[in-house]
Amino acid sequence: MNITRITMWHKTLPLTHAYALSGGRLQFESLDSTFVRIDTDHGHTGWGEGCPWGNTYLPAFGAGLRVALGLLAPTLIGCDPRAIDALNRRMDATLPGHPYAKAPLDMALWDILGQCAELPLYALLGGSEGNWVAANSSIPTGDPEQMVALIETARSQGYRTHSAKIGGTKPDLDRARIEAIESTRQADERVTYDVNRAWTPGLAIEVMNGVQASGWFEQPCETLAECVQVRRQTRQPLMLDECMHTLSDHLSAWRLGACEGVKVKPNRLGGLTRARQVRDFGVSVGWRMHLEDVGGTVIADTAALHLALSTPEHNRLASWLCQPHLVDDPAPGRGARNVDGRISLPDGPGLGLAPDLDWLGTPEAVFDRKG
Ligand code: MG
Repeated sequence: MNITRITMWHKTLPLTHAYALSGGRLQFESLDSTFVRIDTDHGHTGWGEGCPWGNTYLPAFGAGLRVALGLLAPTLIGCDPRAIDALNRRMDATLPGHPYAKAPLDMALWDILGQCAELPLYALLGGSEGNWVAANSSIPTGDPEQMVALIETARSQGYRTHSAKIGGTKPDLDRARIEAIESTRQADERVTYDVNRAWTPGLAIEVMNGVQASGWFEQPCETLAECVQVRRQTRQPLMLDECMHTLSDHLSAWRLGACEGVKVKPNRLGGLTRARQVRDFGVSVGWRMHLEDVGGTVIADTAALHLALSTPEHNRLASWLCQPHLVDDPAPGRGARNVDGRISLPDGPGLGLAPDLDWLGTPEAVFDRKG
C-alpha cells in the first residue's frame, strides 16, 4: 500500500466569542487551521488537522505549518502509510523540530491504520478505558464576576471540571478571581487555575501561597526552570503545558519533580505518535493528565479524545473540546461531542469521521510527486 496524494486546505475559524488568556495578554478572535487528506492506492483516505491556536500561544503558527507541509508531504508520497514510526523518522530527517507541522500528517496516518485494521483509534492506542471521557470547560480571563458567570453557564451544560484562565501583573485581582470561583464552586466540581505563563516566579509564589484553592495550578511561568522554582515553594499540585514540547522535556520535568501532571496535546507534541509516548510515560510515573488538543475543529478534538479514552481513568482528568468555541463545524453532529459533561467517541474505523468537502472548499495545495 502506498501514499499517492496529500491534499491541504487552509481555513480561518472564527470564534463564537473573543477569547482572552494569560491575564488578557493574549487575545484571540479566530483560529488558523490546516486540514490534510492522505490518499492511498488501496482507496483509503486519512484526515488530519493542525491548529496552533493563533500565533502567540506556542512557537507555532498556521502559515509556518503550511510552508513546512510543503517540505514534508512530498517525502511521504510513495511510502506505506502504515509504517507510522518510520514515516515520523523520515519527517524528522527532512525537517528537524516543527512538531506542530508534523501533527496533521501523523494524525492522518493513524486514521488510515485504523481503517486498515477496521478498529477505532482508541482501540489501537491502548483500548477503551470506560465508555466516555469527562468534559473540561475553558473559562477565559475576565473580571471575577464574569468568570463565575461563565462557570455557571458551563455547569448548565454538564461540565464539572473547569479550566479558569487567570494571570497578569496584579496579584490582588488574581486572588479575587480565585476566591470568587472557590466560593461558588460546588462540592463535585474541580477547577484548575491556568496561568498560561503570565507570572514571574515571585508573583506565582505570592498568589498561590495567599489563597485557599482546592485544585491544580497550571503553567504559572514561561520556562520549566521557573515552574520548578514555583513548585518547590508552593503546596498546590502543578500541571505543565506550554513549556513541554518533546518527550525529553517530560523526562526532565519528572527528574526535577516539576509537576504532578501534564497537558497532552497531539498538535503541540507532533501528532498521536508522540502524544502516545508522552501519555505512556505519564502513566508509568503516575501523572494525571488532561488529554486534548491545542485547538481546531471536531477533527482535531476527536483524534485527541481517542487518546484520552484509551488512557487509564486513574491517570486522566477531563478533556477540553475546542469545537464549541467555533462558529463553523466541518462535520455537524459527528465525532467527539460534549453531551451533558460526557464525551463519547465514534466506533467506526480510524478517526471515525471526515470533514464535509463542501465546507472545506478549494484546496490550497496538492502533493502527488515524490520529494
Ligand atoms: Mg493550559
